[in-house]
Amino acid sequence: MALFKHLEVLSTSDDPVFETEYLPGEVVPHPGIYRCAGCQREVPVMAHTRLPTRSHHQHTSAEGEVCWQLIVFADFRPQCRRAATSSF
Ligand SMILES: [Zn+2]
Repeated sequence: MALFKHLEVLSTSDDPVFETEYLPGEVVPHPGIYRCAGCQREVPVMAHTRLPTRSHHQHTSAEGEVCWQLIVFADFRPQCRRAATSSF
């Protein structure tokens, strides 16, 4: 599970980008932390780069197929001169 210390640096969001499921090796549009739905392993991924491939880790049959979901969107835009927005 992703951890953080300072609550003021994270916000919750209902944006549908957090519902999208990605296949292993798929290029993702958003930077952040992605979690495998089967085993809850997490990986950091830059925008427009590939998620780890199927050979990244093995699952038991109970864990099912590797499937990635964005759990923390990393907003790389500077925050010092504007208010934060929830729009990606
Ligand atoms: Zn997994």
